[in-house]
Amino acid sequence: MGDGAGGGERAASGVLDRFRLDGRVALVTGGYRGLGRAFAQALAEAGADVAVAARDEARSVEAAAEIAASTGRRTLGLRMDVTDRAEVEAGVRRVVDELGGLQVLVNNAGTCIHEPALEVSDDHFQDVLQTNVRGVWLPSQVAAPHLAQQGPDGVRGSIVNIGSISAMIVNRPQMQPVYNASKAAVHQLTKSLAAEWAPMGVRVNALAPGYVKTEMAPVDEPRFRRMWIEDAPMQRYATPEEVAASVVYLASDASSFCTGTVLVTDGGYTLH
Ligand code: NDP
Repeated sequence: MGDGAGGGERAASGVLDRFRLDGRVALVTGGYRGLGRAFAQALAEAGADVAVAARDEARSVEAAAEIAASTGRRTLGLRMDVTDRAEVEAGVRRVVDELGGLQVLVNNAGTCIHEPALEVSDDHFQDVLQTNVRGVWLPSQVAAPHLAQQGPDGVRGSIVNIGSISAMIVNRPQMQPVYNASKAAVHQLTKSLAAEWAPMGVRVNALAPGYVKTEMAPVDEPRFRRMWIEDAPMQRYATPEEVAASVVYLASDASSFCTGTVLVTDGGYTLH
């Protein structure tokens, strides 16, 4: 018996096991709808117990119950406005107390307003920066001491920040200057936290999705169709599940040597 590569027998590498999250606890912000919901579902399917956090507590609880029913995992639905420090602290505390720890944080909550720069109000500017940048900063800062503790399998925590290809390219018809700037900040914040927290065993990576049909990205609207579908190399937008697979990769030991990475999952959109 040989391995066909000139070596002797080798033990199986267990590569698929590296994607499993059994015994770990994950928290997804903005998790009851859109991409966040798909991320929470995928993490639970990979074996994690999952907390779904959102501003609408009732819908978080409902989503958490549905995920528990379909996966058999323990779940928790809770209220958390990611711009409110007291709510973030209380939410993280609940996750740790009720699910027994915290090993994965997915900073998914985000907002986008399509408006030409000359019409952007101060309130709009504040809202987008607060949600998309401070809304990544606050949960990360509050969760980091918990993520730095060894989980049940000895592994420390992983943060996945949801950035965007909008941090890297500008699609002129979209008119979302503040959003684009906020996502660039998310990518750079990811790298800064990754460098600072690597010594405590906490990995921090970002995912830059291409277009996915959600309330934020009405890809079928005629004014956006050409930009989002016809001009895309694969001539389609992503399914939430395709993007969620990248989140599971970054959350799990499959990416154990990745930190400070921005993983682009965009069907080749940023190639042109
Ligand atoms: P949605 O608009 O469908 O969902 C956004 C989610 O964020 C909602 O659950 C919303 O909750 C929540 N949210 C907004 N503000 C806050 C807040 N202050 N506190 C807590 N939750 C909040 O958008 P997507 O699912 O499309 O987007 C998810 C993430 O993916 C975002 O970060 C977005 O920028 C990013 N992204 C999306 C792409 C796409 O094509 N869809 C492409 C690239 C990146 P509520 O119901 O309370 O408003």
